[in-house]
Amino acid sequence: MKINKSPWIHQLDHSRRVVSLSKDIDTDIAIIGAGIAGISTAFFVLKYTNQRVVVLDQGKMAHGATGHNAGQVVARFERPLSELEKEFGFEKTKDAIQGLYSSWGLIDEIFEDAKLNIIFSEVNGNIGLSTLYQVILALQDMEIEIRSGITDGEFLISDTAPFKDSIPKVFEKLYKFVPQSEILKKMETEDKGFHALYTDRAACMNSALFCQEVVAYLLKKYPDRFNLYENTRMNKVVLRKNNALIDAGKHTIDASKIVLCTNGFENFEIFNDGGLAIDKNLHHSVEGVVGYMSGYLEKMNKTPTAIAYLKEDYDPAAYNTAYYYLTRRPHEYGDTKHNLVCMGGPEIGIGDRAEYLSDYDYPDNIPAQIDQFIKAEYDADPNHKIDYDFTWHGLMGYTPNRLRLIGEEPKNPTLIYNLGCNGIGIIPSIYAARRISKIIAGDRLRPSIFDPKG
Ligand SMILES: Cc1cc2nc3c(=O)[nH]c(=O)nc-3n(C[C@H](O)[C@H](O)[C@H](O)COP(=O)(O)OP(=O)(O)OC[C@H]3O[C@@H](n4cnc5c(N)ncnc54)[C@H](O)[C@@H]3O)c2cc1C
Repeated sequence: MKINKSPWIHQLDHSRRVVSLSKDIDTDIAIIGAGIAGISTAFFVLKYTNQRVVVLDQGKMAHGATGHNAGQVVARFERPLSELEKEFGFEKTKDAIQGLYSSWGLIDEIFEDAKLNIIFSEVNGNIGLSTLYQVILALQDMEIEIRSGITDGEFLISDTAPFKDSIPKVFEKLYKFVPQSEILKKMETEDKGFHALYTDRAACMNSALFCQEVVAYLLKKYPDRFNLYENTRMNKVVLRKNNALIDAGKHTIDASKIVLCTNGFENFEIFNDGGLAIDKNLHHSVEGVVGYMSGYLEKMNKTPTAIAYLKEDYDPAAYNTAYYYLTRRPHEYGDTKHNLVCMGGPEIGIGDRAEYLSDYDYPDNIPAQIDQFIKAEYDADPNHKIDYDFTWHGLMGYTPNRLRLIGEEPKNPTLIYNLGCNGIGIIPSIYAARRISKIIAGDRLRPSIFDPKG
């Protein structure tokens, strides 16, 4: 049985001083959850408003999904954009696409302000495709991105693809035919099942280390307006018209507003004093999926990359299929830099109420599945037996529409959400954080596909 050992948590400063709440306090903004959503929200609220901010976490900062992900930074959605356009219309879909894309600038802003000195590896985000159906959905996405002004994607299709003559003519300007060998080379695989490749902008970073360093900056920059309390759990919250009372065990926090950055899946209660019920809706609208990953260190003799392998059985429009993905990036381990190769893919759904504990051991059968995939797609050398340095799992909270929930609760705007992390949550959390700082500053924002519904 393997333990849950993530390379991201391993890199954190384990001698860092951890402070818990030791008295009743009041504040302007209470942020619940110190993952990338909570810490980015604190960053932008502190920067763009004069509000006092308190962040609480039931455990240690960045030990949730933020410390157990694949660390791939991508401005992507987990639904075909053509579906989003159908449901929300072009203008809102365009705003959302541009919004996520603009988060590259927000990341730069955080790195510059906080003078972050952590590895941020820019890579090509390679998505290998096997079937005509996957290719058409991806071309539709690309066409909508281009209409939205995002033009840095590249689409290659093999000149021997079996479906080559069935690609609808309307897409012919979007892609280029190339020899299949070119696609396989970029995907670093010998698997001839891949016939097309979509590449967009991507990066790799340790999002837990990012949080740790941003917190160190915020504590220094805003000593009178920012506090982080760890090992301090919110058990319940009472929402009133102009404030929220947070039961944090032995102590109470009185806040003008509360921002839930909890990944949407923890056992706390919400009482909406004098208003309509919120609690049940929230808990039942986020479903837990546990994602599993393995990683190993190797020599730094290859450039960083990110590759997603959409095999024949993967349906991008269905909610119950998963694909394998790999990243390779420089990683500091002890005093030396290595390449860290990480692969993930296997997922297990745990419903909307089941308990997830991050220290559960890693199921026995999963490392073998991941190993089999790595050997089949990436490292076909039969003599190279891989010793995994890390095996880890983390929780993804899926909203029913697979979009992050960002904004004020319609039944009581004292409560604001930045949650429902989904499998792609780094950029959406940061985008949400900036949007929330605008809401708190009193800006009027255009309605968005991420708005919580009444
Ligand atoms: C295996 C896996 C791979 C992934 N890969 C990627 C990827 O490559 N790229 C990408 O963009 N995204 C990826 N994600 C998703 C991404 O990690 C998340 O979307 C992101 O980290 C969410 O951050 P968060 O701050 O919302 O949640 P979290 O990091 O989970 O933080 C929530 C925090 O809230 C705290 N909390 C909860 N309830 C309470 C309470 N009652 N009181 C106090 N504190 C509370 C928790 O302790 C936790 O620290 C992956 C996720 C997983 C699991």
